[in-house]
Formats: sequence, C-alpha cells, structure tokens
Amino acid sequence: MELLLATGNPHKKEELSRILHPHRVLIPSDLGISFDAEETGTTYLENSLIKARTLRELSGGRTVLADDSGLSVPALGGAPGVYSARYGSDESGGELEASQRNQLLLTNMADIQEGDREAFFVCCMALILSDYRVFTAQETFSGTIALKPYGAGGFGYDPIFHLSERNCSVAELDAEEKDRISHRGRAGLRIKAVLDSLEVSP
Ligand code: IMP
Repeated sequence: MELLLATGNPHKKEELSRILHPHRVLIPSDLGISFDAEETGTTYLENSLIKARTLRELSGGRTVLADDSGLSVPALGGAPGVYSARYGSDESGGELEASQRNQLLLTNMADIQEGDREAFFVCCMALILSDYRVFTAQETFSGTIALKPYGAGGFGYDPIFHLSERNCSVAELDAEEKDRISHRGRAGLRIKAVLDSLEVSP
C-alpha cells in the first residue's frame, strides 16, 4: 500500500519506510505538495489527527499517515509533552537548538531526585484511509532522565534519555535497535498490522 506521510522531514520518511516495509511511504514534497499544519491540539492524539486531516485535504483525499510525538515527564506534570519541539521557545516563536532544550530540561529537573526521574517518549499515529476509515495507535518508550547528556547518535532528547536495563542512553542505540523498542517503532508496528490486514473498501 502507498501512504502519504504528514511531515516535511526526510529523516521521518526513512525511519517509517523501514518500520512499515513493504508499504511505500511518500512525503508531501515527493508530490510537490507544500505541507504545514498548526499543531493546536493539547494531546498527541489531537495533533496527529490535525496533521493527518490537513494533509488529506491538501492531497485530494489520499491515504495519509501522521504522527505526533514528544517526551513526557510525570515529575514535571507531563511537560514538555506536546510542546517538546517548542520547549523553551521565546515569545517571538524562535526555537532552541536540541542541546539547549536538553539543558533547559535538566535545569528544570535539578531538584528532582534519581528515583523520580522517570519519563516516557510517546508517539501517536493516525492513519486515514477514507472519510469513514480512521485508525490510531499510541505507544510509549520508558526510561529516566539522565543527570547530563551522553552518547553521540540520535536526535532531540535522545542524549538525556537513559535506559536503565541497558545502561545506555538512546543516543547510543543504532537505528534498527531503536526501531525495535521505541515509541515510534511500536506505534508503527501497530499501524503496519492494520495495513497488512486491510480489506481495502471504502
Ligand atoms: P513532532 O515532530 O511534532 O512529533 O515533534 C516531536 C519532538 O519530540 C521532536 O522535535 C523531539 O524534540 C521530540 N522527540 C520525539 N521523538 C523523539 C525521539 O525518538 N528522540 C528524541 N526526541 C524525540
């Protein structure tokens, strides 16, 4: 099956192509579509549906997949949550670099003891097949927030996300390993199971 993924990020296309294989993933720029959706929701689910519906309209009704993800820290009331990409943005909307966001989160958690530093990456995916056929899957990836960043790979909050059972940060995992255990990998597999089992009827 061919899916149009609601993102401008070629890295996400590569990642989801791996996870959803043999289903084919395109992104809006592959079709000359300029895609941008305002993430006005307060939950991962709302934002994934906003992105999916926006792209479905822009693409004239294609099968679309959208994802919304972030890092939620219970000791901070769930922050940064759906605002993960914008955490620490100034009033003019200027976004921090990933390393600055990580530093800000570590500063905001300076008084939080080791036993209370649990955190979850969350990913919600929304698949729209037709106006009446919509599937969503939301998954998590649990760890703890490290006391300082470490590890050279990954992106975003990976260097401060510690996996105690492996004694490493997510920034030290290779891509295939991360796909197997991550929030996006796990939500993606649920969507793949839907795609694999579909009877394609309107
Ligand atoms: P999205 O593209 O709207 O889903 O934004 C998600 C934001 O959450 C990203 O900009 C990252 O800051 C963060 N994020 C989501 N997934 C991950 C991950 O696997 N590793 C590190 N950061 C992540």
